[in-house]
Amino acid sequence: MEDPYHAYIRRLEPRSPGTGILAGRTVAIKDNISTAGVPTTCGSRILEGYVPPYDARAVELVRDAGGAINGKTNMDEFGMGTTTENSGFGPTLNPRDTTRVPGGSSGGSAAAVAAGLADLALGTDTGGSIRCPAAFCGIVGLKPTYGRVSRYGLVAYANSLETIGPMGRSVGDVSTLLRVIGQPDPRDTTMRGTPYAHDPVPDVAGRRVGVPDEFFGEGVDPRVAATVRAAIETLASLGAEVVPVSMPSMACALAAYYVTCTSEASSNLARYDGVRYGPAVETARPWHDAFTLVRSAHFGPEVRRRILLGTFALSSGYYGKYYGKAQTARANVSADYARLFREVDVLAGPTMPTVAFRLGELADPLSMYLADILTVPANLAGVPAISVPCGTVDGLPVGLQLTGRAFDDETVIDIAAAYEAEVAA
Ligand code: GLN
Repeated sequence: MEDPYHAYIRRLEPRSPGTGILAGRTVAIKDNISTAGVPTTCGSRILEGYVPPYDARAVELVRDAGGAINGKTNMDEFGMGTTTENSGFGPTLNPRDTTRVPGGSSGGSAAAVAAGLADLALGTDTGGSIRCPAAFCGIVGLKPTYGRVSRYGLVAYANSLETIGPMGRSVGDVSTLLRVIGQPDPRDTTMRGTPYAHDPVPDVAGRRVGVPDEFFGEGVDPRVAATVRAAIETLASLGAEVVPVSMPSMACALAAYYVTCTSEASSNLARYDGVRYGPAVETARPWHDAFTLVRSAHFGPEVRRRILLGTFALSSGYYGKYYGKAQTARANVSADYARLFREVDVLAGPTMPTVAFRLGELADPLSMYLADILTVPANLAGVPAISVPCGTVDGLPVGLQLTGRAFDDETVIDIAAAYEAEVAA
């Protein structure tokens, strides 16, 4: 099959061992997830030619379940972006409208699934990178609870925020893939909770669905807001109790996210120095010169920007002013969720404030960052969140986001399944 959307950086001949719950199903893998013997670039020129000697735990589990891995998908460099335009290998196009971006940073995975090039895909979500492209391409994507899927073999961008997660064309498919990857791994010491062993129960009767005002704030396109409110009405018609709530910590969530993720990135990406990882400089030079040359030549502009921002935020004179404050704001987000989840079972709202952007539309970095406002809170708190298609605006898909309690991915899946079953009926 052709790949006119540039969903893949590298396609692979699918080889399935033929048994297990993924037998006969093709699975695309985001290119920041390690695959033994297969190049893994993270969408970056600095990793061109890098071949990991081992599989990520999630990849190992997909293979064990009989999944046929059919390629490595395009992404924003190291996961830094919301459109997949920051890839070092050129952008991916949205299969629903090729003048538009697929969302990011797991845009290749979403496009592969939306176009039918793969049955399922693994993405990663640091601040929305599974849910955003799922919403923009009209598929289902889940960011699992932090700690439920092993990060072993995931190339780190911002390790306290990110997780691997499933993408598919239905809630059932996403649940099946989570069963496969949501298994213990002693090599990731941040793993907690019980393995995911759930089958979706499409039922929302008696569930309390909180709707924070802040999820429908100023930047949200009114047509997207109306589409999502209609989806919430559908949940009410199925017996859910819809409860208006408030989440004041949203005011500082985006700033907290960007200070935290750039700080962690500045540390995690120090390994690309031309010695440990990255191409070596040809002639002998002092360490600082060689380091600067390699990184200037092979990192893209967004990655360089974030390393600079993060290094600044962690510097001795400013640590308290930026990093320290961001951690306070992060704790406030977690406290808000804890309070809200005593009252309600899930929170509902739009996944993204708009439909998919035109290619090149978000030229300045700040407007791209602002598009993440509705997805980053779940990463700051480590709670599960799913995006499920809930209609269109001008023919472009809109995602309903459902966020749940930590380690209660099951409820999020069940409510999404109930919604999906109702609209398919
Ligand atoms: N758009 C966000 C960022 O650029 C989220 C990316 C992600 O989840 N990897 O950081």
